[in-house]
Amino acid sequence: MHTVIKNGTLLTPNGPVRADLSMADGKIAAIGAGLSGDVVFDADGCLVFPGFIDAHTHLEMPVAGTVTADDFPSGTRAALAGGTTTILDFATQERDGGTLREALSLWHSRADGRCACDYGFHMALTRWDGATEKELPAVVGEGVTSFKVYMAYDALRLNDREIYEILLRAGELGALVGAHCENGDLVSALTARCRAAGNLAPRYHAIARPALVEAEAVNRFLAIAALAGVPVQIVHLSTAAGLDAFRRARAAGQRVFAETCPQYLTLDESLYDAPPSEAVKYVCSPPLRGREDQKELWEALRAGEIDTISTDHCSFNSKGQKDMGLADFSKIPNGLPGIEHRPALIYTAGVAAGRITPEQMMRLLSEHQARRFGMYPRKGALTPGSDADVVLWDPGYRGVIRAETQLQNVDYTPWEGMEIQGRARAVFLRGELAAKEGRVLRPAGGRYVRRGLPQLG
Ligand SMILES: [Zn+2]
Repeated sequence: MHTVIKNGTLLTPNGPVRADLSMADGKIAAIGAGLSGDVVFDADGCLVFPGFIDAHTHLEMPVAGTVTADDFPSGTRAALAGGTTTILDFATQERDGGTLREALSLWHSRADGRCACDYGFHMALTRWDGATEKELPAVVGEGVTSFKVYMAYDALRLNDREIYEILLRAGELGALVGAHCENGDLVSALTARCRAAGNLAPRYHAIARPALVEAEAVNRFLAIAALAGVPVQIVHLSTAAGLDAFRRARAAGQRVFAETCPQYLTLDESLYDAPPSEAVKYVCSPPLRGREDQKELWEALRAGEIDTISTDHCSFNSKGQKDMGLADFSKIPNGLPGIEHRPALIYTAGVAAGRITPEQMMRLLSEHQARRFGMYPRKGALTPGSDADVVLWDPGYRGVIRAETQLQNVDYTPWEGMEIQGRARAVFLRGELAAKEGRVLRPAGGRYVRRGLPQLG
């Protein structure tokens, strides 16, 4: 059976093309004029994107005595409804004796057979020893070709020597390492000072994690990477100061990729001045930043310096989870929901607002994600032979983000009441119509993606 999308503006690897696209047997069969098929979708006036990829999610993840509100079924349904056809979640090594094999098995047991969109895993390394090192090649062989290290969070973070050694070993294997860049010692010190002074309201979360805490860690991580001589990625870059460090490394010829997230582009730190029950909803790490940071991040996106936009989706209910820290900011589970709304947010605040083009949105949300994480051109490209993960995007749609109508299994959204422009009218997952106008038609059609090595050119 051939499905054809007619008369759309296709965001292909070579740029926008007005053409038809046909799909068969799960793949894109052809792109051209006058294609015919058994089922036809009219895309006149619409954009056609390769399915969006979210390379930074935390689903069904235990954190600080609780577990994220979204599990794999609810998180991937929300993703698919919004136009995201592949997610990469962070399988996380148990620090006290846990092996990578165990972490991977655990994440598979949570995800396999339960996902609405395709999914793969990065591995977060929380301990570096001979046993962990021995496991790396096998993990890479199973399609986990990217690793994450934390420079903050006492339960997760590694020291500089460990990070250096991981970069060397991962580099030999051709895998990409990304880092959560915040100076954990300084976060601990600043947090302790706030608490000792009785400054416990949610807004002190941001005060304990100022821009310099990120910038110092970005700078140090890039110095470690330069010494190791390997390309690296900075996840969730949030500040102009961190961006400066990143730009210096690039100017010096270093291969380094940066990701940012919708919350750093569309929300700002003034939200922490709301009453505590409201302010807790915006607590994430790094925290929301100032307007000037936002402006700089958009500029870096426009200039093609920042490589990808993912969500860092890590959802906790405002009642029963976030509110554990109402009286002490250090007890608020960190993270925001965003897996469902990223494409609409970036279309609205980026494309419709004239900050980036549809083509740039395609590269930031699809192509670069697939390249960096070893899925290109199987994913992230409208090109014959690629998986038929296709989003028919209606740029004329107008709507409002509301928690009561979202599919994310969480009791709020940070973008409550925001007017959005554009949405996924139809989402195809490997050729099957899987979501339509925000409704999911195939709730468990997702498959594990065994990834190849990253393309870092
Ligand atoms: Zn994260």
